[in-house]
Amino acid sequence: MSDAERKMQFLFALRSKGVTDSRVLTAMERIDRRDFVRGGLFSNRADEDMPLPIACGQTISQPSVVGVMTQALQVNPRDKVLEVGTGSGYQAAILSHLARRVYTVERHRRLVLAAQKQFDRLQLTNVTAMLGDGSHGLPDIAPFDRIIVTAAAEDPPGPLLAQLRIGGIMVVPVGQSDAVQSLIKVTRTEDGLEYDELRPVRFVPLVEGIGKE
Ligand code: SAH
Repeated sequence: MSDAERKMQFLFALRSKGVTDSRVLTAMERIDRRDFVRGGLFSNRADEDMPLPIACGQTISQPSVVGVMTQALQVNPRDKVLEVGTGSGYQAAILSHLARRVYTVERHRRLVLAAQKQFDRLQLTNVTAMLGDGSHGLPDIAPFDRIIVTAAAEDPPGPLLAQLRIGGIMVVPVGQSDAVQSLIKVTRTEDGLEYDELRPVRFVPLVEGIGKE
């Protein structure tokens, strides 16, 4: 299959799963998922709409789930965005095409280094990967216009809610780690927080502290 055909099929799969926002589709067209699963056992399956294993026992999400979450985040070009759970860096790379500035936090040093290497190689200069427990957010850089959590929490972490600007949106999978979770969209209004339940999802759990590798 040619590269053009591959891209067409990839975009078709996204549309058929409800990713219709043209800015999101364009951003996803510009980032090649192969760049983020390089060297992995399943790197030849990068175009398929399925999650794949990456280092440190983690996974790169299914492209249609990345698309649905990015679409729900409604990112504006002037936004400062926080991602919790860098993983491969794929989601953050897509956000870098939609936002002014992206910070992504990961608890495994090895994943932070690999993701930052790809951002540098692809000259995505507005995205920074940082080592840390992302459930605390980044108090020194807050508030954020948008926050996306790509690991499942039992509840939306309080520090992250506190770092969301008024008018800001957070998308987070919520639920027990060994069950199907719910993708939740939280909007901070003048009066408080509004919650919308979007769809069932399945993510690796949000884990406390820094990983060993
Ligand atoms: N967004 C990623 C996929 C995320 S997989 C991508 O595009 O590839 C979830 C990631 O969250 C894993 O890499 C895991 O190590 C990380 N993670 C889990 N708990 C975390 C925490 N408290 N702080 C930061 N990262 C965390």
